[in-house]
Amino acid sequence: MTTTAAADETLTPKGTRRVDAARDHLWMHFARHSGLHQGQDVPIIVRGEGARIWDDAGRRYLDGLAGLFVVQVGHGRRELAEAAARQAEQLAYFPLWSYTHPAAIDLAERLAAYAPGDLNRVFFTTGGGEAVETAWKLAKQYWKLVGKPAKHKVISRAVAYHGTPQGALAITGIPSAKEAFEPLVPGGLKVPNTNQYRAPDHVREDGKAFGRWAADRIEEAILFEGPDTVAAVFLEPVQNSGGCFPPPPGYFDRVRAICDEHDVLLVSDEVICAFGRIGSIFACDDFGYVPDMITCAKGMTSGYSPIGAMIASDRLFEPFTKGTTTFAHGFTFGGHPVSAAVAMANLDIFERESLTDHVKANAPAFRSTLERLLDLPIVGDVRGAGYFYGIELVKDKVTRETFYADESERLLRGFLSKALFEAGLYCRADDRGDPVVQLAPPLICGQAEFDEMEEILRGVLTEAWSRI
Ligand code: PLP
Repeated sequence: MTTTAAADETLTPKGTRRVDAARDHLWMHFARHSGLHQGQDVPIIVRGEGARIWDDAGRRYLDGLAGLFVVQVGHGRRELAEAAARQAEQLAYFPLWSYTHPAAIDLAERLAAYAPGDLNRVFFTTGGGEAVETAWKLAKQYWKLVGKPAKHKVISRAVAYHGTPQGALAITGIPSAKEAFEPLVPGGLKVPNTNQYRAPDHVREDGKAFGRWAADRIEEAILFEGPDTVAAVFLEPVQNSGGCFPPPPGYFDRVRAICDEHDVLLVSDEVICAFGRIGSIFACDDFGYVPDMITCAKGMTSGYSPIGAMIASDRLFEPFTKGTTTFAHGFTFGGHPVSAAVAMANLDIFERESLTDHVKANAPAFRSTLERLLDLPIVGDVRGAGYFYGIELVKDKVTRETFYADESERLLRGFLSKALFEAGLYCRADDRGDPVVQLAPPLICGQAEFDEMEEILRGVLTEAWSRI
């Protein structure tokens, strides 16, 4: 962490200390507020430039998580702010409810061109959870329209995160994120994920066999439930929650074949993985499969304005081209003109700076730099793809023994998150599965930032080990 001249940004317009106003009025997301009430300060980030962010005391950090897997082109891009201003001046708002506007049309055309196969139809939302919600609703209605009305259930994977609306939450596979809100939308079934490090013994050392085994669990679930009741399978190209599980070799080929055989739609939830995070604009291209729908959000604007989308194949749209048939679904701010214009400008940067090529060229260096950490006794596994990595922490590398809940609580929440931040690295220490540290920096990063991440992690993880 580097300190620059302290910013004069600690007071609200009313003259309250911002930390006090945050404690008294702001409800943060997925956050424990007890710490604030016991006098802890919440970090207040006031500025960003490239891969760096600054807090209200002028301290500088490396943004190792691109905000929240969002800021692909880096912070502080004036041209994206200008694109937003231009659009707001011209037409700040108009809905897509039976009317439209040029920014949404242009962006839909562009996304359809990037998307594989015949995924040509773009339904805009304001974020990822709404895109997932939209995909499930479309799957249900599509099957009704084509004469298979009982197909309504969805399959997703253990520990996967797919958002917080009640439908998307039913697809999410993290029990602790759901239990307070049960009962959720019925029909959300779970199968094992692709965590090779924790795979069953008989397939742990053989990626192909593991891929086959994991994909076959999807077919098993379809058969257990009855193919006539299953509408769709929701999978991330690389599963985020649990710590970046890439697909084993052959996994998506097999999943695609299973879906085709049983008339089940394959949804590629690319809310994190799209827009260069893995390498390509859409990560299904990185793994060579064509889904029936893609859900995406985050990196589409690099976070300069919110937007999400569900992109559907021609086949799924076809029944909606007839008579009075309507998809009775929408959001006031879906496809907001300012966000759509910013997305266009953001994608211009991707193309002008060849960002996807940059990620593809530098991903091996990112991996090998992080793999240097495998010499530490606490680092069990380094896994991921592109600019999206998880480092799993263990008590014993040989047995792969993980931490008890109270140890994980002390390690991740009590020490690691804060220590990494204080050492100048904003990233994520997560225990929704086994304890992991996650890294997903802006796509403009290169070896200098990789080295900095490794150095900070080395110091803090060494200290963490000495505290166990
Ligand atoms: N799907 C996936 C795979 C995600 O990672 C997320 C959020 O991180 C979501 C859906 C929900 O997106 P949002 O927070 O924009 O609603």
